[in-house]
Amino acid sequence: MLLSELQEDFALRGLQKFRAAQVYRWLHQRGATSFDEMTDLSKDLRVALKESFEIRNTEIAIRRVSKIDGTKKYLFRLNDGEMIESVLMKYKHGYSICISTQVGCKMGCTFCATGKSGFSRDLLPSEMISEIQTAQKDIGERISNVVLMGMGEPLDNTDNVLRALEIMTSEWGFGWSPTRITLSTAGVAPELQRFLDATKVHLAVSLHNPFHEERAAIMPVERAWPIAEVAAILRRYDFTHQRRVSFEYIVMSGLNDSPRHIRELCRLLDGIKCRINLIRFHKIPGSPFFSPDDEAMIRFRDTLTAKGIQTTIRASRGEDIQAACGLLSTAAAENGQ
Ligand code: SF4
Repeated sequence: MLLSELQEDFALRGLQKFRAAQVYRWLHQRGATSFDEMTDLSKDLRVALKESFEIRNTEIAIRRVSKIDGTKKYLFRLNDGEMIESVLMKYKHGYSICISTQVGCKMGCTFCATGKSGFSRDLLPSEMISEIQTAQKDIGERISNVVLMGMGEPLDNTDNVLRALEIMTSEWGFGWSPTRITLSTAGVAPELQRFLDATKVHLAVSLHNPFHEERAAIMPVERAWPIAEVAAILRRYDFTHQRRVSFEYIVMSGLNDSPRHIRELCRLLDGIKCRINLIRFHKIPGSPFFSPDDEAMIRFRDTLTAKGIQTTIRASRGEDIQAACGLLSTAAAENGQ
């Protein structure tokens, strides 16, 4: 619930409005996971709240810590027993968490372990918020950035995602600047416009191939909403100030890294102030795709940069703990956990 909704509910019960704000502070600023922790509310009110409301928490089912870079991968258990993944990375500027927005995913990208495992259900705003709060409690520190890039397609669950973003960015919620948040989408064009109009958070678009047929072969979403349509929408928005748009490009050796792909990328992104993040493909079990070597990644980056597109190579994190989306839940399901 948003604060305004809780205030309305409290008013109907004859409770003062400021009590709703008190509950919100406990939930979102102090990370309370039960009404009993809200010690400045009367005992009667706490009992009444328990009878009418439920606080959805995520519970850590599995935690893996990378020996290489300290990245933590969580498998969270939800109230109904479903499992989702989050990945917590430590950078110089602080902690960044990659959260899930759905249990599974309908988009069916062929290079993604989550896409292979099918779809179960959408996450509620409270469950997305709880991913952040449970991780914060686990490390005993504040998280500074969030990316909605875990399991699921955020713009296939737009209503709940926009509510979660409102909780993160409102003064009565986390009070975060939208520039601390990035939403990643495979390119659900009709919802993209709604998201761009409703918030100021950064956007990342999973691109991976600029050619329609080739992209459709690895990302079925391309059949419904071609990347050219997504680019046309983005051209209408201003990304020259605070808000940024980036394109994620998983480099798969011999499949999407030729000079022909570079030429088409430049044509597709012409007129959009953006950055391309190159990601080396992480081999997943049963996948026919291959990882490029360092030299090939650098060559690809330098060629794009020379063509005037700001391009970076994303450092791989947590390679020893199967940090890529969907791998841990798949392994857990196979082991009956
Ligand atoms: Fe879904 Fe993202 Fe995986 Fe594609 S890459 S199947 S959109 S979770």
